[in-house]
Amino acid sequence: MNRPPLPPGIEPAELAWHDGVPESMRFGDVYFSRDNGLEETRHVFLQHNQLPERFSRIPEGGSFVIAENGFGTGLNFLAAWQAWKTFGPEHTATLHFVSVERFPLTREDLTRALALWPELKALANELLLHYPPLVRGVHRLVLDGGRVRLTLFFGDINDAWRTLEFHADAWFLDGFAPARNPDMWLENTISQVRAHSKPGTTLATFTSVGRIRRALMEAGFRMEKTSGYGRKREMLKGVLEGEKPAQPERPGTLAIIGAGIAGCTLARNLAERGYPVTLIDTSGPGTGASGNAQGALYVKLGVEFNDQTELALTSLTFAQRFYSTWRDQFWHPTGLLQLAHSPQEEDRQARFLQRNEYPRDILWPVNREQASAISGVPTQSGGLWFPGSGWLEPGNLCRELADHPLISTEYDVKVKRLLPCNGKWHISVDEGTSIATDRVVICSGHLSPGLIPIKGRFRLKAIRGQVTHLPAPAVINPKTVICGNRYLNPVLGDIAVTGATFDLRDNNPLPTTESHDENIHELSSMLPSVFAREVGKPSGENLDGRVAFRCTTHDYQPVAGPVFDGDNADLDDLYLLTGLGSKGLTYAPLLAEYLADQLTGQPACLPANLARRLETRRLYQTDVAAS
Ligand code: SAM
Repeated sequence: MNRPPLPPGIEPAELAWHDGVPESMRFGDVYFSRDNGLEETRHVFLQHNQLPERFSRIPEGGSFVIAENGFGTGLNFLAAWQAWKTFGPEHTATLHFVSVERFPLTREDLTRALALWPELKALANELLLHYPPLVRGVHRLVLDGGRVRLTLFFGDINDAWRTLEFHADAWFLDGFAPARNPDMWLENTISQVRAHSKPGTTLATFTSVGRIRRALMEAGFRMEKTSGYGRKREMLKGVLEGEKPAQPERPGTLAIIGAGIAGCTLARNLAERGYPVTLIDTSGPGTGASGNAQGALYVKLGVEFNDQTELALTSLTFAQRFYSTWRDQFWHPTGLLQLAHSPQEEDRQARFLQRNEYPRDILWPVNREQASAISGVPTQSGGLWFPGSGWLEPGNLCRELADHPLISTEYDVKVKRLLPCNGKWHISVDEGTSIATDRVVICSGHLSPGLIPIKGRFRLKAIRGQVTHLPAPAVINPKTVICGNRYLNPVLGDIAVTGATFDLRDNNPLPTTESHDENIHELSSMLPSVFAREVGKPSGENLDGRVAFRCTTHDYQPVAGPVFDGDNADLDDLYLLTGLGSKGLTYAPLLAEYLADQLTGQPACLPANLARRLETRRLYQTDVAAS
């Protein structure tokens, strides 16, 4: 066997194909029955968890959660998805499928394995389109227009069930045979199955091994042997005993304050899950920090693969999948080049490459000649090439996201403050006028601190950023986004946006010549040949641009979750999503997904270690005078 890859890489499955059926070389076992894998899945997992009947009873806005031990070829997942399409409700509801895989199939192997099932072809194609790069961690795939959400943990089962938050309605216990794959069937694993279940949760498994049946009974499941599929005489099914909890009450009304990329992605996310929301903004969607004509989908991945890097990477890959809906409309996946634009950055990139192994669908290193050829602009150095990244039209995107029948909008209103009264929040918008709602999410960027009705201070600050609109004839039009100490986007219409300044103690809302000159100076030191010879380097005096204020936290990490009450708990009806800094386009889709999971009580798309990083309480300071 080869040595395991450095993080964030993960060992892929090594398959042997016998009569067209995939077998794991590591475990010496088949992924599914040689007789008819799809029929076996339907018999063992769908029928014995009574999925068709249970799917049909899910109420509007509700969800059903299946958890599985061992994603393998995704056959069980596709079969469950197909059943959801056939038997699931007509109205909006979500099927969640939470699965884990220690040795994921490569895209090529997955394609070959799923080609065995012509009747699942359309679903398999959609899965393949969204199948994540082979990096460890949690991947959330939003499929079938949001009716199906797959949470796929690439890593060991014990880490998965320890760090993911969810409660299953049904379990598919599907490791390889217990004798060949003991890790999947340890007592510890079974106690995790119990921990993620609730009274009434069902399970099914192809195995009928006595030790496993007894362990599941000890964990509280009422177990039964029943007839297996094909040549397998017996299998097991079970249900967790205990009184079923009452159906949670449907949450009431929800308002989102701020229609930038954070507020718009969140509003759209909730609306697509069947939850009506009110979106409130001083002017309209995408008019503040998310209102630039162009914005790059950019992250800086750390030399150490720590939580911060994992969050950035997970956000990047999720955002790339999320934006693919608007490909060539508001999303332009031209690729993005991160230049080694200074000796320090060159050294950092060298150490980054030494310590990490990223698959080529995320990034790979390029030398100076390659960088110049890829970008179409002569560069002074090589760098890192992100082939799946690109640029967006954030303002247009926000307007599109906010346009949904379940999103009602209140634009051109300035929120003054939030007041709790009789179990509701009253959002006062004008003298004597207020909007009453059960829950509120503040997504107001640098204006958020003024709206949080808690004594004390949340460490958020505004950083001015000015972009410059370069007239198209002034630059050699890059084929890709180029980043360094500035970024430059490919020409859109008659301009290319470059920027942005990073002005810590400047609250001037208007563009200045000085900031334009700074942008031009930095861009020309990064890319000396970018200005068209016949036009020459432009002067800041004659240029247009735009100023916006980024919102950052003291630790430059975003914040998403319930607001800390300043004492020792989190509020359950007031949330915050901001602090995205200059990476709003990258972080917003995943953090909106994460917050929507919480607001709807559905499985979390982030593991506990990353969720902790986002908490609001880390920003809280009682000492109001301190900065
Ligand atoms: N459900 C799959 C399907 O529909 O194709 C078949 C699953 S296969 C029988 C079992 C899977 O469990 C394999 O893909 C294997 O790599 C994975 N696995 C084995 N040990 C594991 C572990 N310790 N943690 C996570 N996954 C593991």
